[in-house]
Order: sequence, then C-alpha cells, then structure tokens
Amino acid sequence: MVQSFRKYIIFLIVGFLVFVSGCASTPYQKLRKQNFVLKELCMRYGFDCTMDSITQVIKLSRKEIEARGLIGSNIVVIEQRDVYLSKPIKISRGVISVPFDFEQRVMVPLSEKAGSISKTFRKIIVDAGHGGKDPGAISRRGTQEKDIVLDIANRLSSALKKRGVFVVQTRDADNFLSLDERVDVARSENADLFISVHANIANSFGVEGLETYYLGFLNWRDKKEICCIEKHKKMFRKYNMKYDNINAKKIVLDMLHTYKQQSSSDIARYLAGYTAKKINTRNRGNKTANFYILKNTLIPAVLVEVGFLSNKREEQKLKSSAYRQKIANSLADGLVLYTR
Ligand SMILES: [Zn+2]
Repeated sequence: MVQSFRKYIIFLIVGFLVFVSGCASTPYQKLRKQNFVLKELCMRYGFDCTMDSITQVIKLSRKEIEARGLIGSNIVVIEQRDVYLSKPIKISRGVISVPFDFEQRVMVPLSEKAGSISKTFRKIIVDAGHGGKDPGAISRRGTQEKDIVLDIANRLSSALKKRGVFVVQTRDADNFLSLDERVDVARSENADLFISVHANIANSFGVEGLETYYLGFLNWRDKKEICCIEKHKKMFRKYNMKYDNINAKKIVLDMLHTYKQQSSSDIARYLAGYTAKKINTRNRGNKTANFYILKNTLIPAVLVEVGFLSNKREEQKLKSSAYRQKIANSLADGLVLYTR
C-alpha cells in the first residue's frame, strides 16, 4: 500500500514537471520564431534604420530608397505603396521588433530596389579547400576533395585573370594550410572578395547539386572574439586608422561586418543561381554558416560547394577536366556579371 502510494506521488511529481516545462518552453519558442529585432535585419541587409522618438515613425533607408512604418501599426510604406504585415511593429525597452513576415514583405523587395552596396571586384582571393595531409571529403571510389578543388581553383584563377581581375591564391599546389593561414591571406591582402572552393559529401547517395555559403548572423560572442584578434591590425592599416582607438575600432568593425554580411549574401545568391544553371546542375541555394574562414575574414566571403562526391554521377562529372573548366568559367563569369 505504502509502495503504491509512493509510486502515485512520483507519478504526480513527474507529471507536474512535464507540464511545467512544456508551458515554460512553448511561448518562448514561439516568440523567437515570430519576431525579428529590426536593427539586426537592417544590419544584415545594409540599411540605415532610425526612429523618431516623438512621432514613433521608423525609417529604413539605403541610397535614395526608403520605407517608413509606425510603432503599433502593421502598415509599412515602401515608395508610396502600402505593405500589410501580419502583426504590428512593437517597441520594448528600446528594442524595435517586427513580425516574421517583415523580412519577405519589406526587407527583400526594399533590398532589390536599392541594389547591392558595392559591386566592384578588383582583386579576389581564391582559396582551394583542404590540401596536403588534409584530403577533405573522400568518395567511396577514392576521389579526394583536395585534388578536385585545387584544379577548379587554379582554373578559376586563370579565368578571372583573363577577365581582368587581380587574383591571389591561398594555395596553388597540394600543400597543407591551416585555416588561420588562409584567413591571414585575406587579412593582409587588400582584396574585395574571398572565395573558397569545396566539394561536398552526403550520407545519401542521391543528393547532388551546387550550393554556396555565406556568413550567418554573428552574435555578440562571435563579434567579441573576432574584434579581439590581434591580426586585424593589418586590416586597419588599409583604412589608415589607429587600431587602439577603441571607439573607432568598434565603429569600423561594425561597418565592415554590415557591408560584408549584405554583400556576401547577395554574391552567394547570385553565384549559386548563375553557376548551377550554366553547369546544368541543381541549385541547392545559398545558405548561412559560421565556418571559420567566413567568420574571420572582414572582406565579403563566400564558400562554394561545387558538387557531391558521394553521388556517383556527379563524381564522374567532377573527374572530367572539361566539367571542371566549365565550373571555373561559370564562376568567373558569374563574379564578373555580378559586378555589372
Ligand atoms: Zn571541404
């Protein structure tokens, strides 16, 4: 009797804990999913974002393109056109939050109208992934990623040079480079873009296609880690600034990150669409990632996964020099066309 009573009590306690934890987590997850902090969206898309504290009007602008909204209202005006949001814009403790559909309904069309921030690639750093003791992905039939991507990177470099772009390669032979050494090249060269070439592998043999990656949102910890890297002094020489001026450092780093995030995502999107079409493969799209090289370069950086070595058909194609040349030419054309 005592035992069964104990069991009953334990059952009640466990049941209560499940109930409480369920209640506590659900609303929080919903909030996270449905709201964006406006400042972060503006940073990501490279817009200035201000609020008039008296009228409570918010203004998003880049070049001559602007949008206006009002705290408490679900209407945003883009160039005299009203856009309706699912929920009103809110402010809480000085932080402006917007509903989940703000990005698709406001930021994307606004960004398309305003165009990219800057579109000139004078000098590009081409990075062939892996190398030397690091083979990268290896297919079941023994094809090594490091060999495929080195050849594509070499061909891409020649193709870009032919199109008038100055190129610096992190490696042009089968040698090992640490991630930091690769990033060092980006830090010391005064370049406009860092492009890293990789080949993919998946557990499922059927998966194929090309995808590009750019840097996802950086949280405060990422930013802190990056801003404190001594080697960024080299980057600051480019701007003729004193690195140890804390305020100036913060402002410039913020500017560089904003510029970098906006243009990297534009380039990644354009390059994935253009190249996949040209080489006749599936466009798996542009995705965000916090890869070391994407995170630790201050210039726009994209990573291209040219295809899947785990897919027999795609592996055969990647082993053909004609196909690798086609990839190199398409990437080079894509980069040049993007800058027009
Ligand atoms: Zn790789």
